[in-house]
Amino acid sequence: MKRGIESAIVLGAGLSGRAAEALLQSEDVDVVVVDERTHDGDAVERLCRERLFELGVVSPGFSLQHPWLVALREAGVAYCSELELGWSRYAGRTVAVTGSNGKSSTVKWLADGLKKCGFEVGLGGNYGVPASTLARTHSRADWWVLEVSSFQLETVVDFTPEVGVLLNVRPNHLDRHGDMETYVRTKERIFGSKGNALKRAVLPWEWRDLYAATLDGVEDVAWVGTGIEADYRAQEGRVWCGERLVLDVRGSYFDAPHWMASSAVAVAAVMEAVGVGREAFEEAAQQFEGLAHRFERVECVNGVEFINDSKATNLAAMAAAVASCRGGVRLLAGGVLKESDLSFVKEILAEKVLRLYVFGNAASIMEREWGREMACASFGSMKDAFDEACCEALEGEVVLLSPGCASFDQFKSFEERGDRFKTLVSRWSEGR
Ligand code: ADP
Repeated sequence: MKRGIESAIVLGAGLSGRAAEALLQSEDVDVVVVDERTHDGDAVERLCRERLFELGVVSPGFSLQHPWLVALREAGVAYCSELELGWSRYAGRTVAVTGSNGKSSTVKWLADGLKKCGFEVGLGGNYGVPASTLARTHSRADWWVLEVSSFQLETVVDFTPEVGVLLNVRPNHLDRHGDMETYVRTKERIFGSKGNALKRAVLPWEWRDLYAATLDGVEDVAWVGTGIEADYRAQEGRVWCGERLVLDVRGSYFDAPHWMASSAVAVAAVMEAVGVGREAFEEAAQQFEGLAHRFERVECVNGVEFINDSKATNLAAMAAAVASCRGGVRLLAGGVLKESDLSFVKEILAEKVLRLYVFGNAASIMEREWGREMACASFGSMKDAFDEACCEALEGEVVLLSPGCASFDQFKSFEERGDRFKTLVSRWSEGR
C-alpha cells in the first residue's frame, strides 16, 4: 500500500485496527478509527461524504459485504487489510501461512526453526502481534513469519510473500465466505497478486486440480501430502522428498498423522526454499510443547487423562484430536457448528469414542447425526457434560474437550471455553 498519504480511515478498533492506527500516525497520517461499538451504521458513508480518505484499512472482522466496506467502495476509497498495510512497510523476506487448521502451531514452529538458524524473525499476523505492529518493532528482521486467516486474505491487494503456504482447505467459515468455491479462491491469495514475485508456493497435492491453474507461471511449486505423488511426503514422523530424508520429527509434538500430513511437510518445503539445514527445525519440533488449547494435556486424575482442545472449532480438527488419543475417548463437543455435513467424521468417532457428551447449540443436531453410531447424551452446558463424563470415566480413558464448533453461543472465545474446562478439571482433581 502506497506511502506518503495524508488521510486514512481504519475499520475496527480492536488489536489490528489500533496497530494500523499507530503505524499510520507514526507516518504522520491523519487517521480516523471507526468501530461498531462507538459508531452507527451510516458513520462511514457520512464520513466519506464529509472528507476525502486516501486509504481504508480493514480489520479482519469485516466481511466484504459489510455496509462500511460497501460505503468505501461507493465513495471510491481504495482499501486493504491491516495485514497488507503492515507488510507493505517491510522490506525483508516473508513466509505466510494460511489454511483451515494448524496455522498457529506451524508458524510458531517455523519461527522457532528460523531463529535457531541465526535469523532475526518477526512472528505475527493473525498470530499474536498484528503485522502493523511488526512493521514498527521488527522492520529490520531477516524474516517475517505471518499467520494469515482467510478473513485477512479477503482484502489483500498486492500482498505477496516470498514463500506462500496453504496447509489445508476444509469447509470452515462457510457462513462468512458463502460457498466452498469462494473459500478456495480466497485462500489462493496467499500466493500473491499476479505480477509480484512469489518464490515458492507450498500446498497440498490433493488440491492440485483446484489450484494448478492459479499457480501457472509460479517458478517453484512444492506439492505436499502423504501420497507418493507429493514432492514432500510425510510418513510416520518423517518427511521425504523422493528417496531423500528431509525432516525427522519422530517423538515430537508434531509426530501425529494430522500434523505430519499438513504441517511437517510444509515446514520441510519452506526450510528447503529458505536453503537451511534440517537440524534447527528438528530441534524446534522436539522442544515444541504445543500451544494452549491445542490438544493440551491438562492433568491425569486417577488414571484418567484430561485434554483441552478447545481450539478445535471445526469438525476436521475434532476428528484429528480424537484420532490422536491413546485409549477410549469421552468426547465433549458442541457450540456453534460451522459445517452442515457431519457425516465425514462419523467413522473415526465410532472407532474411538466411548460416549459423546454434547452441549450448546449443536447438541441436538450432533445427537441426531451421530447418536445411532455411538452412545450419546445431550446437556445444556459444558459443565453438565463435563460432570457426567467425569463420573463415568475409568482408568486409562481420556476426557477430551474438542468441540468441533465455535464457542460463541456460551463463551466469549475458544480461550474462555478452554480455561473454563481447565478450571473444571482442577476442581474435579481437588475433590478427589
Ligand atoms: P489454527 O491457527 O489454524 O486454528 P492451530 O495450530 O491453532 O491452528 O490448531 C488448531 C486445531 O487444529 C488443533 O486442534 C489441532 O490439533 C488441529 N489440527 C492441526 N492440523 C490439523 C490437520 N491437518 N487436520 C485437522 N486438524 C488439524
